[in-house]
Amino acid sequence: MPLQMNEDMQALHQDIVRRNAGEREFQQAVAEVLGSLGPVLSKHPEFRDNRALERLIEPERQIIFRVPWQDDSGRVHINRGFRVESNSALGPYKGGLRFHPSVNLSVIKFLGFEQVFKNALTGMPLGGGKGGSDFDPKGRSDGEVMRFCQSFMTELYRHLGEYTDVPAGDIGVGQREIGYLFGQYKRITNRYESGVLTGKGLDWGGALVRREATGYGLAYFVQEMLRARNDSLDGKTCIVSGSGNVAIYTIEKIHALGGRVVACSDSRGVLHDDTGIDVTAVKQIKEVGRGPLDRYMLLTGRGRHVPGGSIWDAPCHVALPCATQNELNGSDAETLVRHGCVVVAEGANMPATPEAIRVFQEQGTAFAPGKAANAGGVATSALEMQQNASRDAWTFEYTEQRLAEIMRGIHERCHDTAAEYGTPGNYVNGANIAGFIKVARAMVALGVI
Ligand code: NDP
Repeated sequence: MPLQMNEDMQALHQDIVRRNAGEREFQQAVAEVLGSLGPVLSKHPEFRDNRALERLIEPERQIIFRVPWQDDSGRVHINRGFRVESNSALGPYKGGLRFHPSVNLSVIKFLGFEQVFKNALTGMPLGGGKGGSDFDPKGRSDGEVMRFCQSFMTELYRHLGEYTDVPAGDIGVGQREIGYLFGQYKRITNRYESGVLTGKGLDWGGALVRREATGYGLAYFVQEMLRARNDSLDGKTCIVSGSGNVAIYTIEKIHALGGRVVACSDSRGVLHDDTGIDVTAVKQIKEVGRGPLDRYMLLTGRGRHVPGGSIWDAPCHVALPCATQNELNGSDAETLVRHGCVVVAEGANMPATPEAIRVFQEQGTAFAPGKAANAGGVATSALEMQQNASRDAWTFEYTEQRLAEIMRGIHERCHDTAAEYGTPGNYVNGANIAGFIKVARAMVALGVI
């Protein structure tokens, strides 16, 4: 049984496991939230009587569809597409699309569930959802990716709309894929509905800072965590797993705020550079060429690449998992703590296992869950939607300033809520409780729907 649950929560957990058999990631994400909410339901009988929690756990709609497409040699492939519309009490469903071979219903349901809390924490009018496919874009030509995206959108478009459901990117879905998806949506509907997707290119409705937002937001959140401990990022040694969108812009902003990132990784291995990772070189490898990280030494003449190694063995003050779910386990957490790590914040969604979270909490390492620490991406997506609705375009500086304010607000909400419920410094409780109360209040107000 993960984390502490009272008796009511244990009974609910058993029911969730029975009704969602085999959905390991979804069960894990729900269990983490149940571990925080016992005191909230005692304090708010209206949430219990309206079964707000049970309704929130059951997605409003789950769409699964066939995605047939042809590769460059004419061979037909069949993938599976998903969109889970988790909750729309606060606004239209909002959440990214993931294209990766590991995608299945459990992964998309867990991501959609987490997204509801995350979006609520931003304070913006957004519901939560998530989608994707088990399609692997790696090694595919632009033409193949385009045909896949067109086939995917040919089914999905009927469920979308700027006031209904607004997808964005995630693993394997960047600006190229959003472009092909938006093009097909526009073609089918004959509407230039900019607000239907976020993460668009700057020439066709996109907003400045969206690409940088999740990583920059994470760095701002870490700054606030350290400030709450009367400390700062100045001179701190940091490690960042992954080398995709979130990792790259986390490294960039951590450096700007005075920290030094000495290691990052990809699915093939770990890159160490004690002088500080050269983020321009990582961008060159991953954003321009989509290649492996071991090219770094060729480009910079420094660093060391360890194929298949674990990044969590590298000594650091701050550890930021930014690759994928369950990438940091209990024994990794013990190693980090032993090496003097004082802050861990999730850039990825659910990268730390329940055992790892327990180690951090027992050992006094400040730990922030992704639903709080990586909310900068979706918050900036909401800013993109605002600009689309008003046909306006804000400057980089103004948008980044809004992002920094939003991240400070999320930190404060989590920090203060954790203290109010008798667990000061517990960001997991703070995020789960603050997010839940916001959504549950709206659900009660809207009636049993
Ligand atoms: P990308 O596809 O841009 O990058 C993912 C990175 O993680 C790649 O470098 C990939 O390596 C690496 N990776 C994947 N699996 C593993 C693994 N098992 N071990 C080590 N490295 C691995 O994705 P994003 O950066 O967009 O997303 C990363 C995480 O952040 C996800 O959990 C996502 O849900 C979350 N997130 C993303 C947001 C966004 O705005 N993009 C917003 C909020 C959360 P390789 O290059 O070899 O493929």
